[in-house]
Amino acid sequence: MKPVLYIVVPCYNEEEVLPVTSEIFLKKLDELAKKEKISENSRILFVNDGSTDSTWEIICSLAEKDSRFLGISQSRNRGHQSSLLAGLMEAKDKCNITISIDADGQDDVDAMDEMIDAYTDGCDIVYGVRSNRESDSFFKRSTAQTFYKLMNAMGAEIVYNHADYRLLSSAVLKKLEEFREVNLFLRGIIPMVGFKSTSVSYKRSERIAGKTHYSLRKMVGLAVDGITSFSIKPIQIITNLGVLISLLSFVGVIWSVVQYLRNVTVSGWASMTCIICFIGGIQLISIGILGEYIGKIYLETKQRPRYIINKKTYDDK
Ligand code: UDP
Ligand code: MG
Repeated sequence: MKPVLYIVVPCYNEEEVLPVTSEIFLKKLDELAKKEKISENSRILFVNDGSTDSTWEIICSLAEKDSRFLGISQSRNRGHQSSLLAGLMEAKDKCNITISIDADGQDDVDAMDEMIDAYTDGCDIVYGVRSNRESDSFFKRSTAQTFYKLMNAMGAEIVYNHADYRLLSSAVLKKLEEFREVNLFLRGIIPMVGFKSTSVSYKRSERIAGKTHYSLRKMVGLAVDGITSFSIKPIQIITNLGVLISLLSFVGVIWSVVQYLRNVTVSGWASMTCIICFIGGIQLISIGILGEYIGKIYLETKQRPRYIINKKTYDDK
């Protein structure tokens, strides 16, 4: 039996690109159906992330024009990860496989053929891994590289150069639903779900139009979230640092007592100030890191909804 595919596309203020990329997605869906790789009942599901421009209106008119376009809308902007999850959970019971892709045309739709072939061969997760980074600015490239290195050093298992372009089977989606955490970082959670997985590489191009919604602040936020959601290594580093500094201080104490007994103590303002500044800095950073974790616990205990859908272009019945 041919699998039913849902292409899940989170969209935030994408009025400039959506008219173009929606055509690209539809053409791909058609082509895949013609090649008999997917069922005729496959759909493209847009998730509007509380856009402030005409993105939702565009989605509605697309849905009116062609029944293969579907749309749901979040009640406000909740971020890329939240919208993606909303789309995946919406699609979970309606299809056999989902492929999540950005709305801006950066991810090459032709990689979908290979993804679906891998699924047919028995894989439940297929990661889209970008083979190049020339389309990125030097800044984006180096910050992204640092991000992956830091994440892996901190013990969060993420696939190198893989963003959120991936195929998931409905079996994986059903298990993913059981991961109840409010702080979301799909790239870290999906490898934890397990199942047979593989990756296909593709060339990532530049945005067709508009500009990125990931500012440096959002990227750093994502990195901190990723690390603190998946690893307690930073806390262990603090402990180790504490032990090291205590040992050094112990030596320092013995040294100062010896100096005192030898009667050679002089006023050591500079050395004192340096030590106080150094220890003070480390203490503040450590408290900050602990605070990150406590904040996470605080947010998790509230169990607030992870996404809120208030509009759909279709009736659920
Ligand atoms: N996006 C979203 N909510 C946000 C920010 C982004 O749904 O708050 C969507 C956006 O419309 C796009 C995808 O997430 O489809 C990736 O965002 P973007 O292209 O701006 O990031 P970049 O590719 O530059 O990392
Ligand atoms: Mg993009």
